[in-house]
Amino acid sequence: MPMSGTQPSLYQQLRGHLAALKLTAAAEHLPSVLAQAEAEQWSMTATLEHLLAREVEATEARKLAGRLRFASLPTPATLAGFDFDAAPGIDRKLLDELATCRYLESATNVLLIGPPGVGKTHLAVGLGRAAAEAGYRTYFTTAADLAARCHRAAIEGRWATTMRFFAGPTLLVIDELGYLPLPGEAASALFQVVSQRYLKTSIVLTTNRGVAGWGEVLGDTTVAAAMLDRLLHRSVVFNLDGESYRLRDHHAKNDALRQTATGTRRPLQ
Ligand code: ADP
Ligand code: MG
Repeated sequence: MPMSGTQPSLYQQLRGHLAALKLTAAAEHLPSVLAQAEAEQWSMTATLEHLLAREVEATEARKLAGRLRFASLPTPATLAGFDFDAAPGIDRKLLDELATCRYLESATNVLLIGPPGVGKTHLAVGLGRAAAEAGYRTYFTTAADLAARCHRAAIEGRWATTMRFFAGPTLLVIDELGYLPLPGEAASALFQVVSQRYLKTSIVLTTNRGVAGWGEVLGDTTVAAAMLDRLLHRSVVFNLDGESYRLRDHHAKNDALRQTATGTRRPLQ
């Protein structure tokens, strides 16, 4: 019996070591692992492996939670939750390839272009989540937030630090370019962020404006062209169009209501 003679104090010492090394999961699982080891007559190697595996699992889970917290994803959207039947323009194979996160190794950018409600943010969040889950440092922001942060940083003398911050993540998601105009300083900030990441780390960018409209958004066609050059050089572009998923849902509900109310359907368009 392991718990007889000098064993209890040895056991206490072992628990003490695990606690001192901050191996809390291993310490927590020590009694059950020892009991199972005895019941199933595990070798010492197998016993140690089981014990430390609990600690590794806990560490991985903690790191993942930290990465997800840092990523600041605005919704729980996932790639698995994306309905391809509702988005016929989307190349499923290509998206499956992106879901492997291999594109991050070649610093490839992803551009999601399309009108409101077609799933751009959903896919951007899904890609961000996949990256964080695969172990990549990921950060989600909107173009307007990025510009506002850089503006504050410039005023407070933290420009360099902020630029380093936006250079850091392996994946930077920039949502909603084009909803608000970003002229002057805002466009320069965005350009600098894109430039310093160019060929080093990936950007997933969503926009409601076709690339031809970027000059207007950034208030400067030269900056827009230079930025597009860098973004598109190594990139995957999705043009999403079709009916807004939000409105689709809305239409479907209206249809259902109308059907129950009158027994008729909305005519097919
Ligand atoms: P966008 O960013 O293009 O304006 P969103 O990604 O915010 O659109 O999509 C609007 C809503 O519809 C979100 O709740 C999103 O999860 C959902 N949605 C859009 N397209 C799809 C889709 N193909 N499958 C599942 N949900 C979708
Ligand atoms: Mg959006």
